[in-house]
Amino acid sequence: MNLLSVQNLRAEFFSGGRWLEAVSDVSFDLRRGEILGLVGESGCGKSTIAYSIMRLLASNARISAGEVWLEDVNLTEADENTLQGLRGSRLSMIFQDPMTALDSLFTVGHQVVETLQEHLGLNLAEAQERALALLRQVGIPAAEERLSAYPYQFSGGMSQRIALAIAISCHPQVLIADEPTTALDVTIQAQILHLIRRLLVEEQGTGVLLITHDLGVVAQVCDRVAVMYAGKIVEFSDVNSIFKNPLHPYTQALLKSLPSQGIARGALENIQGRVPSLTDWPTGCHFHPRCIHARALCREKAPPLRSAAESQEVACVLYE
Ligand code: SF4
Repeated sequence: MNLLSVQNLRAEFFSGGRWLEAVSDVSFDLRRGEILGLVGESGCGKSTIAYSIMRLLASNARISAGEVWLEDVNLTEADENTLQGLRGSRLSMIFQDPMTALDSLFTVGHQVVETLQEHLGLNLAEAQERALALLRQVGIPAAEERLSAYPYQFSGGMSQRIALAIAISCHPQVLIADEPTTALDVTIQAQILHLIRRLLVEEQGTGVLLITHDLGVVAQVCDRVAVMYAGKIVEFSDVNSIFKNPLHPYTQALLKSLPSQGIARGALENIQGRVPSLTDWPTGCHFHPRCIHARALCREKAPPLRSAAESQEVACVLYE
C-alpha cells in the first residue's frame, strides 16, 4: 500500500535572473512499513525532493510540475493550514542537525509535551507521561531527570534521539530522514538507524524516506533504493540487487568508492569529476562527462528510467 506518491516532480531555483531545474521528472512511491533510500552525492537534488514533499522549499524555489500525494491528500495543492496540520502528525521530518528541530530556549520535556498536546490533544498530565515514555523508548538514560534539560546539554547522538522522539510522538505515516546520521560516529549511527526501523517501521508501519549519500547506511536499513544523479533518478532497485548487480554506471562507481564494496570488487576507486552545478547541467545523460562508458548518443539523449531486470529500473542507453 502506497503512503506517499511522488509523480513527475520538477523543482526549480531562481538564480541569476532565471529558473534552474534542480529536480527533473522524479517519480516514486513509498509503501507502508518500508524504508526507501534516496542516495547520491551532495548536489544531486535529494534534499530538494524532501523539502518539496514537505512544502518547505526556500522562497527562491518552486515546484514547477508534478504532484505529491500523501494517501488521499495532494500536498502540492494543499493550503498552508492543511500543511501545518499534516507536518508533525501524518508527515514528519528529521534532519542531519537535530538542533534544527529543537529549540535551544526550551527544555526537551517542554518541546515533546507541546508537540503531543498540539497534535494529539492530550492534557498536560497525559502528555508528560507520554513524553517520558518516548524518551525511554529512544534510549535516553535517566529520562525522568533529562526531561528538564536543555538541548545544549545533550550530545549530538542524544539530541538526534530526542528529535526522533518528537518525530515519532504522533505516529507519522511518513517520516523523511535527511542525512540523520551523517554527523554521528558509526556506533551511534547504527543505534539511530536501528531505532528508526524498530520504533517506526516495525511498530507503527511508518514509511521512511531515508536520504543519504552513504551506501553503507542504505545497506544497513533500506528495503529499496533510488539512486539520484544531477536531479534525476538513474536507478531504482530492491536493496539486495543494488549491491549484487548494480546496473547504472553511476551506481557501479558509487559502490566502487565504498570501502567495503570497492575492495571486494577488486579496487577502491574515486569517481572522477564532480556533480555539475544547476547552471551547467550537461545535455543528454547528465552523467556522461564522468561516465567511462559514454558514447556519442549519451550526449544527445537523456535515457528514461526503464525496467532492466527483476525489481530493477535503470536510465542508461547500455540497457536499451
Ligand atoms: Fe554512461 Fe551513457 Fe549510460 Fe549515461 S547513458 S550512464 S553516459 S553509458
